[in-house]
Amino acid sequence: MSKFFPYTSFENGFYIPESTFPSNIGGSCSKPPVMMSEKLWFPTTATPEEKCFQFMAPSYPKKFKAEHAGADYCRDAESPVYAICPGTVMKNYTAETNYNLKLLVILHNYSGKDFWGHYGHISSDLKIGDRVQGGDVVGKIASSKGNIPHLHFGINARKMYTIYSDKDSKGRKYGWGRTPVGVHPDSVGWVNPTTFFKDPINALQSCMA
Ligand SMILES: [Zn+2]
Repeated sequence: MSKFFPYTSFENGFYIPESTFPSNIGGSCSKPPVMMSEKLWFPTTATPEEKCFQFMAPSYPKKFKAEHAGADYCRDAESPVYAICPGTVMKNYTAETNYNLKLLVILHNYSGKDFWGHYGHISSDLKIGDRVQGGDVVGKIASSKGNIPHLHFGINARKMYTIYSDKDSKGRKYGWGRTPVGVHPDSVGWVNPTTFFKDPINALQSCMA
């Protein structure tokens, strides 16, 4: 059990109801990266079953007023985060003190296809322009006073999102982790990470513009 159990509220806008607490928080700093398929690595220490919020998770709390545009992997703080394949660092906001703003964006290329990997709630010393290879440690899962430490991992096949939300003509906010309620993340290029790891090429193609 994590030292973060149990908690029911969080002042910073991120709240996980008790009923959705993951029961299998795993991860240690000594586990090696796991290759998911040829030349493609899982972005953090792998466990057989994931119980944190998944892409478009129905249990994603309504109070966020958003759809979940990535997958969360709950691990111990300081667990390593790995580049899933080769790429170049585009943004590093991981020095932000607000847990919800910490983000590393890597422009990846897999089998000739470019896409942006969004690694949220981590710390990282990488600099913009740094090149990484699949399986390289790119950061560590950040700790938080009130949150279960986790990697939010998002893949976008169309564009890079940052911590600063884009707005559409209706004033609705889009960001690296979320789309407005009712806007399916697929429709703006987000790829379901679970689908991606099973069949990366098809998953990327189906979400390209
Ligand atoms: Zn998330």
